[in-house]
Amino acid sequence: MKVIYMDNNATTQCSPAVVEAMLPYFSEKYGNASSMHAFGGNNRHAIDAARKSTAELIGAAYPDEIIFTSCATESDNTAIFSAVRTQPRKKHLITSAVEHPAIMEPYKYLESQGYRIDFIGVDEFGRFDMERFKSVIDEDTALVSVMWANSETGTIFPVAEIARIAHEHGALFHTDAVQAVGKIPVNVKAAGIDMLSLSAHKFHGPKGVGALYVRRGTRFMPFMLGGHQEKRRRAGTENVPYVVGLGKASELALARLSDGTPARIAALRDRLEQGILAAVPDVKVNGDPACRVPNTTNISFGYIEGESILMYLNDFGICASSGSACTSGSLEPSHVLRAMGVPFQFAHGSIRFSLSDQTTEEEVNTVLKELPPIIERLRKISPFSRLAA
Ligand code: PLP
Repeated sequence: MKVIYMDNNATTQCSPAVVEAMLPYFSEKYGNASSMHAFGGNNRHAIDAARKSTAELIGAAYPDEIIFTSCATESDNTAIFSAVRTQPRKKHLITSAVEHPAIMEPYKYLESQGYRIDFIGVDEFGRFDMERFKSVIDEDTALVSVMWANSETGTIFPVAEIARIAHEHGALFHTDAVQAVGKIPVNVKAAGIDMLSLSAHKFHGPKGVGALYVRRGTRFMPFMLGGHQEKRRRAGTENVPYVVGLGKASELALARLSDGTPARIAALRDRLEQGILAAVPDVKVNGDPACRVPNTTNISFGYIEGESILMYLNDFGICASSGSACTSGSLEPSHVLRAMGVPFQFAHGSIRFSLSDQTTEEEVNTVLKELPPIIERLRKISPFSRLAA
């Protein structure tokens, strides 16, 4: 069965051109990039080129502001722990209530260690509560970390404005830009970002490699201690093939941003969304309609469970995802939808479709054909549904 892949916020296909660029560094060019001999040492040039491409994708002023990591989770943890360790007297941290666990968990850990934490809420469209943020930030705030775009709804936060306010209070600003990079223009210089996390596998690069941007002059302490790699900012033998893959994926992503790809993806996303809204009653789109990344739509189907919808979609080879996690027998709706105040009977039936440049009109048509009967069938057997009777 042909797979219709609409789960690109979870991960993307590694582009064939990226795989091709990586391959020689597994077999022929396997030397250690930190070696004195030319066989290994020459790989340094490949790493430098990848650093330059990654810096260009996010508008960094200097390539050496990019530190390669193993994933965005590592980048996020590095940024947070660096901010608290370099400012030991400050005991207040701010983030949003809708972050990825790679931010939430380190923040909760620091809360358990005595830090004051403010998780800033969002409104019904998932928009950041700027007034609340302004009212809690003070001179004791070490770090403000707010994501650029939300993974579940695609809502874009005004990071430049948040960074400006953070700086007015002497706080550092970090953004988890995993769901923004490669989808919308990201410019760290223009936005005044101190630190930014990204992950290659979200924009057609390989899994297991990411980067942390650290603006020159930003106080920084490494997360892992060991070798002198990455100018002593991230110890561990350089993962040359994966770094090369990230570099190639960055180059391709930058080109796609200016060749009309985002508008084409947005048109397909809108067609899918409008088609579902027209064909299915009791549905609700979650996220900021005016300010979303182009590939994402999150739709709540009232009175049924998202997991059941996914199972039926799976029978047609359609891959999407639901925000809820099944814990101890009870289905917990996603923390993002809960923060947005989505009613219980809608939050449970939420599905995220995340498209890519590989999505076709034919695939969208297939989803529009197969989904409405699935919803109708599930509502007939749902104990919550008014159709159940
Ligand atoms: N941050 C966000 C917003 C994400 O969506 C993800 C992945 O889903 C991550 C962080 C973690 O990325 P990685 O898999 O590279 O650790």
